[in-house]
Amino acid sequence: LLTGRRYRLALSLSQAAYADRVGGICRAVWNAALEQRRAAAQLNRGRTHERAIWPTYISQCRELAEAKHTELWLVEAPAHCLQQTLRDLDRACRQHGLWRVHWRTKRRWEPCFRFPDSAEIGEVRRLGRHAGDVRLPKLGKVRFRWSRPLGGVVRNVTVRQSSGHWYIAFCVEDGATSAAPNGRPAVGVDRGVVVPVATSDGECFHGLGVQSREQRHLAHLQRRLARQKRGSNRRRRTVRNIKRVFECIRNRRLDFCHQTAHVLTTGHGLVVIEDLRVMHMTASARGTVEQPGQRVRQKAGLNRAILDKAWGQFRSLLEWHGRKNGCGVVAVPAAYTSQTCSACRHVAAESRESQAEFRCNACGYGANADVNAACVILAAGLAASGRGGLAVGPPMKRQPPEQDLAYATA
Ligand SMILES: [Zn+2]
Repeated sequence: LLTGRRYRLALSLSQAAYADRVGGICRAVWNAALEQRRAAAQLNRGRTHERAIWPTYISQCRELAEAKHTELWLVEAPAHCLQQTLRDLDRACRQHGLWRVHWRTKRRWEPCFRFPDSAEIGEVRRLGRHAGDVRLPKLGKVRFRWSRPLGGVVRNVTVRQSSGHWYIAFCVEDGATSAAPNGRPAVGVDRGVVVPVATSDGECFHGLGVQSREQRHLAHLQRRLARQKRGSNRRRRTVRNIKRVFECIRNRRLDFCHQTAHVLTTGHGLVVIEDLRVMHMTASARGTVEQPGQRVRQKAGLNRAILDKAWGQFRSLLEWHGRKNGCGVVAVPAAYTSQTCSACRHVAAESRESQAEFRCNACGYGANADVNAACVILAAGLAASGRGGLAVGPPMKRQPPEQDLAYATA
């Protein structure tokens, strides 16, 4: 299995300056290549299908090599890093569409470049209890803080700046293969705003979200930022401090996702989750026609921003841990899971009495709202994967989806 290992770099001043310049060149290459693709798309509008010309990864690499004869500043960066930038752009355009790919601006993008060829990368050495080093092309020998064992063969290396610190990430092949199914029972997982993760077994995982101390600190920094002059050094320092607070929150969330995913996949043979619906998650902020969304408080916006980012992350971590621990992951459509009764499958918005309470207004079944939703998700997942017999409690028949919708609209 491929695994990432990230370490904090300790670059010398000249190395940090060089890495900054390489990041800048990669940014310029990305923007120029994106500009070329967009211009080509506009030209192609008037052309027939056969005469349309689309830049590709190959053609852009060739043009990059030609451009190096006239644009000498391009030569300073390692050639492979620039090619990887073009490859990333190609992938982004395929995945999200040409017009959704962002420009890399100096303010919103932090330097990041990758060395794809493991033959170019020197041996990773441990120098002492807390230090290691590795030789990278053009950058030379870089030292990093040895915070964990590498545990595998290096495939590629990414150097990245994040809130003022430099990091090195090794992609390693750890030699382990995907585990055989562990044969444990299945579990449904519901994610919510108040309880981050609730399972159909009735277990709730509470992560530490944004703490009030951090919120006060952020508000303080943002007030200070508003007063500072654009382009000043003090403002830059404040921006960096804000980023550090967010990084702290991000790291804590990542840790929570890892630990929860580990516990879920070691204890169960199948984890059923909701399919990601971004519209669903922002619904409360936008409001309905009868009750338009009011100006959403900063805290709510912040929590939600963090929550919906963590969703995709949690899912991919769950899949990774699942491969390691022999546990399958299934995603089911999320519609009406919080309004459906897990005992009789009746759908009604009134059944959800409050944030925490669920009481079915057809059969009177009462439970924790998040746990009830997790049970509904589990039933849907078992039906979808054809493993009805392993359900916790009495097996539930799958309802045709049209009937569910009829209930909901009635
Ligand atoms: Zn019911």
